[in-house]
Amino acid sequence: MNMHLERLQKVRSRIDSACRERGRDPASVQLLAVSKQQDANAIRALHALGQVDFGENRLQEAVEKQSILKDLDLFWHFIGPVQSNKTRDIAAHFDWVQSVDREKILRRLNEQRPAHLPPLNICLQVNIDHEPQKAGAPVRQVAALARSASECPRLRLRGLMCIPALTEDEARTRGSFDALVALARSLRKDGHRLDTLSMGMSGDLELAVACGSTLVRVGTDLFGPRQARA
Ligand SMILES: *Cc1c(COP(=O)(O)O)cnc(C)c1O
Repeated sequence: MNMHLERLQKVRSRIDSACRERGRDPASVQLLAVSKQQDANAIRALHALGQVDFGENRLQEAVEKQSILKDLDLFWHFIGPVQSNKTRDIAAHFDWVQSVDREKILRRLNEQRPAHLPPLNICLQVNIDHEPQKAGAPVRQVAALARSASECPRLRLRGLMCIPALTEDEARTRGSFDALVALARSLRKDGHRLDTLSMGMSGDLELAVACGSTLVRVGTDLFGPRQARA
């Protein structure tokens, strides 16, 4: 059997059974194929099997692939650290930015989103485990960031994203996911209409789905090991 089909079916069936165990509709969890450090042919192969959402964490690498794949109708998600000198290109080349974590980036993406494109979908990335070196907004700043985002006409705040601390302890990871869910709930109380909780990767997608994830970001288990960067 086709290797890509096999991997895609396996990941999809993991998502589906995690949903069934929790009485959730499998259609309520979107699969983002994280194609960083994978070549354009692999993206093309997954697209041929029906996958349309792809995630990249480096602008230059993403733009190169986008130009090779411009004949395809794909949705591109930026999931890496956003430097402020890259916002113009990110605003022009992506459908989603899942890794917005500060006011300045919000403001620049809003100002720079090209007028001929629909508003840019964004998620606020949250440093949910308060890790010193980690990307993501501190939890205490998220309410203010969400308020700012909702005042940006060229942005559409869709939800929250997190990457929990690396640990073997499943209970701790569950705690991180639960904390993101609680934060989203409090933002909804503030009036934000959020439909996206981006949490879960190759190693913890079942747990993320059990906790309420609506979007899992899967690289390794869809594409195999990543290639070394040039
Ligand atoms: C690389 C990456 C992933 C995918 O990780 P895998 O373990 O390969 O599935 C998910 N989210 C982000 C933000 C990433 O950078």
